[in-house]
Order: sequence, then C-alpha cells, then structure tokens
Amino acid sequence: MQKKNIFILGSTGSIGLNTLDVIRKFPDHFCVEALTAKSNIELLEEQILEFSPRIVVVKDEKAAKEIQKRIPGKFDLFIGDDGLIEATRVGDYDILLSALVGFAGLKPTIEGIKRGKRIALANKETLVVAGEIITELCNKNNAEILPVDSEHSAIFQCIVGEESKEINKLILTASGGPFFGKSKKELSDVTVEEALKHPNWNMGSKITIDSATMMNKGLEIIEAHWLFNLRKEKIDVLIHPQSIIHSMVEFIDGSIKAQLSLPDMRLPIQYALTYPERFESSFTNTNLAALKELTFFNPDFDKFTCLKLAFDVMEQGGTAPCILNAANEVAVEKFLHGEIKFTDIPELIEKALNNIENHSEPDLETIVECDRLTRDFILE
Ligand code: NDP
Ligand code: MG
Repeated sequence: MQKKNIFILGSTGSIGLNTLDVIRKFPDHFCVEALTAKSNIELLEEQILEFSPRIVVVKDEKAAKEIQKRIPGKFDLFIGDDGLIEATRVGDYDILLSALVGFAGLKPTIEGIKRGKRIALANKETLVVAGEIITELCNKNNAEILPVDSEHSAIFQCIVGEESKEINKLILTASGGPFFGKSKKELSDVTVEEALKHPNWNMGSKITIDSATMMNKGLEIIEAHWLFNLRKEKIDVLIHPQSIIHSMVEFIDGSIKAQLSLPDMRLPIQYALTYPERFESSFTNTNLAALKELTFFNPDFDKFTCLKLAFDVMEQGGTAPCILNAANEVAVEKFLHGEIKFTDIPELIEKALNNIENHSEPDLETIVECDRLTRDFILE
C-alpha cells in the first residue's frame, strides 16, 4: 500500500499536535513530508526527530540557525512567509493539512490548491477572507477541501450520499463558550484567564478567545457558506453546551441528521485524512448512557455582537469578511496582551467595518491590501 505524505502547516499548534497523533496511530498509511513552526523550536526539534520530515519551515533566520545547530542537514529548510509558500509549492505531498492560525494560512493553502491536492482545512480564516477565490481555484485545479473544523466535518459526514438541493438548513452547534451564562454587563469585566478557559475544548489561544466572543461561530457560518455552497438563510446556529452533537443538517422532508462524539479533534482530522474510508480507532469512546443530558438554546445576538457582525458581513460579501477577520485578529491579540477589554473586541471590529471601504469581487491582491489596511486601522 502506498503511504500518503502529509504536509502539516502549523505542526506545533493544537491541530498540528492532534494530527501527528493520528499519523502516529497509522504508520502504515501516513508519513510526514513537512513540519512548520513559528517560534516553538524545542517542540519542532522533537517532532523532526520522531517523524523525519523532508521539509522544515521556520519563521525567521534566528530560528533557522537554531534548528540547524540542533539537527544539521537532514532536511530542506525554508524560512518565513515566502518559505511557507515555496515549500508548499515544491513539496512532494498528497494532503496539505492547513493549520496555521489566521490570515497567515491563506497563501500557502492556495499553493496546495493550485497543485490540485487534498486540503484538510482547519484554517477557517482562509475561506472567510477569500471564499470565492478559493472555491474557483478548487474547481479549476480539481483540488478538494475536506473540513477539519468539527462542525463542518459533522455536516460533511451528514451529507455524504445526500443531494444538495434536498438540504433545508445547516445547524451549526456552539458550546456558548465560558461566558454563556454571564449577562452582557458582566462581560465587560472578564479577564484574559477566564476567557482562555474553554469549557470543552483545548485549543490555541486565538480560537479560544474567538469561542468566548462567539466570533469563532461567526467565522464558521461563513466557512460553511463557502464549503457547502448555501445561502445565509440556510445556516443556523444553536447553542449546545455539552459539545456532543458537533452539528446537524435538516432536510426538506423535516428529517435531521446529526454527528455525535465526545469532543476530540483527532476524529475530524482522521476523517479528513482517510475519507472516503473510515479507519478503526479508539480516540473517543462515547458512552451515551453516561451523558446526563443534551440541551439546546438559541444564541443571544445582542450579548454576542461578534456573531451578529459575522452574519452581516456574510450578507455584504466582498472584502467585508476580510475586514472583520483582520480587525478580529488584531483585537484578540490586543486583548490577550491586556491592552483592551473583552467588550472592546466587537467595538473595534464594528469601527473597522464602518470606516474601511468594502470592495466587491476582490482579487487576491485586493484582499491582501484590505487585510493590511484593516490591521493598520485597528493598531492606530
Ligand atoms: P495554535 O495557535 O495552537 O497553532 C498555530 C500553529 O501555527 C503553530 O504551529 C504556530 O507555530 C504556527 N503559526 C502561528 N502563526 C504563524 C505565522 N504567522 N507564521 C507561521 N506559522 C505560524 O492554533 P490552533 O491549532 O488552535 O488553530 C489552527 C487553526 O485551526 C486556526 O485557524 C483555528 O481556527 C483552526 N481550528 C482549530 C481547532 C482546535 O481545536 N485547535 C478546531 C477547529 C479549527 P508556533 O507553535 O511555533 O507558534
Ligand atoms: Mg469549530
């Protein structure tokens, strides 16, 4: 059997680590073509020693010198944003596992698409900022996107064998995050530590804050819109605090399909790597009898303004989602550094949306420029 070569963008992150765990479990099926990190050289070194990749990418010269000193000459070393693009352009891989965080994931993911590869997509920001371009490129180059995001994997699993025209709506579930039970007033005083305590998932800091503001669900409805080619009216959000049902699809006859499991990202990652097959594994063992209850609530758009803003920009299209995403990335970074309050995050995003011009049908250059403009605007 031919092993599948996996290129992991962001191997030292939360999704990267879970992906390596899946690969570790199936050494006869998968091997690692490339590992990439920004600054976590210690962990990257451990990963290189264990998985012997042919390509390694680090963020800057200093990191490159450090890694060469630790493990000399066993792989091709690429550096920086250009290095990520070059490595995805020349690497010999079957699947690109796209798990950088934020806008940084866009260009290297595009390189994989241009080469007609399978993209196992965790980096939702890619579809949020450039959904139309990505969809066209996938069609043109015969590339397929397999969702890693648990909600989108759930939906994907529910619609295998179904007709798109028979889907009535997608129901994306959300845990509600750590502040589900707090009042709008209480949100203004929450701390970074409280916001980083997600009730059900252990993830990178950016997506954890996005979950607390519910911007994560906002980004996910836009991701779903492009992945499944469905209009805004056909995408709903439902709060489900237990995170057992990862999402649902309602069909035109009223039937609803759902995908359930204990929360463990290795499951959707594995499915994205093995699809259309399923491999036997024991990452999650969901004992339904032991779960006391599954509950559901409608989201509070007034309290979680970020979710409302995301629905608005999905409707507006053009560069509006790019403005929302860039403003959010900078605002979250500022919140993590203690420079702004939790409730300033949606306010800054709204300001950016009101002040920066929306361009319809943007090309990639326009999107890159819009991202830069928005970052400058928020930093000012
Ligand atoms: P992490 O912050 O844990 O990991 C990000 C990875 O990307 C790390 O390897 C990091 O390197 C690297 N990286 C970060 N910024 C840059 C940059 N500018 N240039 C090059 N490399 C960079 O993030 P997550 O794994 O949590 O999330 C990754 C993506 O997956 C996000 O888009 C997120 O929304 C999505 N996602 C994550 C889920 C999860 O469970 N974590 C679930 C669903 C989706 P270093 O470690 O050296 O800093
Ligand atoms: Mg998700």
